[in-house]
Amino acid sequence: MLIRDLSAIAAGVLCLPALAQHAHHDPDQVTIADRVHYCQPGAEGQLRGGYVMMDVPVDDGGAIARGSGAVTTILDNGPADNRIDLTFVGDGYTAANMGLYHAHVQNQYADFFGFEPFATYQPYFNVHRVDVVSNDSGVDNDPGQGVSRDTALDMGFWCGGTERLLCVSVNKARNEASAAPGRDQVIAVANSTKYGGAGYTSSNLATTSGGNASASQVYIHELGHSLGNLADEYTYGGPTTYTGPEFPDPNASIFDSADQVALQLKWHRWMGESIAGFDNPVSTYEGCRYSVNGAYRPSANSMMRNLGRPFNMPSVEALILEFYRIVSPIDSASPTDIAYTEHDDQISVVPMSPIGHTLDVSWSIDGEPIAGQTGQTLRLCELQLQPGTYLIEPEVIDNTPWVRDESARQVFMRRSLTYLVSISTPPGDRTGDGVRDFSDVLDFLEDFASAHSSADLAPPQGEFDFSDVLEFLTRFGAPCG
Ligand SMILES: [Zn+2]
Repeated sequence: MLIRDLSAIAAGVLCLPALAQHAHHDPDQVTIADRVHYCQPGAEGQLRGGYVMMDVPVDDGGAIARGSGAVTTILDNGPADNRIDLTFVGDGYTAANMGLYHAHVQNQYADFFGFEPFATYQPYFNVHRVDVVSNDSGVDNDPGQGVSRDTALDMGFWCGGTERLLCVSVNKARNEASAAPGRDQVIAVANSTKYGGAGYTSSNLATTSGGNASASQVYIHELGHSLGNLADEYTYGGPTTYTGPEFPDPNASIFDSADQVALQLKWHRWMGESIAGFDNPVSTYEGCRYSVNGAYRPSANSMMRNLGRPFNMPSVEALILEFYRIVSPIDSASPTDIAYTEHDDQISVVPMSPIGHTLDVSWSIDGEPIAGQTGQTLRLCELQLQPGTYLIEPEVIDNTPWVRDESARQVFMRRSLTYLVSISTPPGDRTGDGVRDFSDVLDFLEDFASAHSSADLAPPQGEFDFSDVLEFLTRFGAPCG
C-alpha cells in the first residue's frame, strides 16, 4: 500500500515496550517479569488482594503453535486487524461440559458491554470463543489445595501460595486462543464456582472463574489491569504508609491534588470534575495501591477498588487510549494507491463508529485545511484544481470529552492519510480566479485552437476534437459535471 500513515509510524515509536527481557530456565523461551494481580471482594464488595511478579513468556505473535479448538465468533464488528479481539479459552471443561462453558462465556461478555467505556466502544471489539476440551472437569486446587486435574491450560487456584490467585499456562492459553482470527486480549475461563482471577498486566491476559456469581465483575476488574494497565485502588495488603517513588499507573499517585495541578501530573486535568455515569467527583483520596497513607486514588470509590462500581475518569481515559493503541480511528480508505490523474476522482475514508458520538473528519491540501470539508468523501472536482501535484490528507480524530490529554489524543486517537494527487488538465475555472466565466471559455478556445495539451481534456489523447469541447463544457457547467 502506498498510503503513508505518518501518525501510525509516530505512534509505533512511542509504543515501544520498555520491558526488561531476560532468559528463563528454558533457553528457547524469552520471558518477562509480569505483574499478576489477584483481587477478591471482602465485606460490601471492597476488594482486597495484591500482585505477584511472575516470569511469563514473551508474546512472539505468529511464531506460537496454533490450537485446534473450534472457534465461534460471538460478536463480529469487523476485520480483526482493526478491532480489539477478546478471545475466550476454557479450562477444565470436558466435551460433556461444553454447554456449560458456552453459558459461562455468554454471561461474562454480555455484562462487559453493559459497562462503560466498553459499552460506548463496543463496535471496536470482536469476541471469539475457542472450545478447548480438557480431559478432566474442574481445575487444580479446587475446592482445596492438593486437588490435581489433567486440564488443557493447567489452570489452578493457590498459585504461588495465594488461594484466590487463579493462574494459567500463558503459552497454552495463547496457543489455544490463536485458533481465533485475533487475540488482543485473552480471557482464560476456569470451570469453577470458586472466587478467583488474575490480571497479567503486561501479557494482555486475564483469568476468571466461569461459574462464580461475581465472575463478570471480576473479569471487568482484571481487564482494568490487563488492558488498561490500571492499579488497584484499595488499601489492603501493602505497607500502611507508602514511601517509594511515583507509581507508573494512570490511576495512582504519590501527589495530592494541589501538587498534581502545580506539577501538571497524572489526572490534574480532571480535578473537581464529575462526569455522569462514573465514580465522582475526581480529586485525590488518600489510600491506594495497597497502602492507607502516602498514595492517592482519583475517586472515593471505583471498579478498581470495589466490585459493582463504575470506573473513574482517569481510568476511563487510560482505557480509551489503550483501545486506540489497537484500533485506528480510520477503519478503511479508498483508493489504496496515490496515482491520481482524473478530474472527477474521489477519496473516501470510513471512520470507526462508537455508540453515541461520531469521529470528526477533516481534509487538508498541501498542509492547508479545506474549509467546509468534513464529510467522509472528497470529490477532487469540487476543488477546481489546476494542473499540478498536490498532497491531500484526510484526518480522523475522536474528540470524546472522556479524554483530556490532548497530546495523547493527537498521538493515539488521530490518524491521517497522505495522497499524492496529480492533476493533468485544468478544471472549468481554467484561469483560477474563483469563478467560471467568459475568460475560461476564451482560455479553452485559445488552447484548443493552438492544439495546446491543456485543451486535450478527453480521450483519445493527442487529438483535439469535439469530445474535448464537450468535456470543457461539462467542467464549465458545474464543478463536478
Ligand atoms: Zn485488582
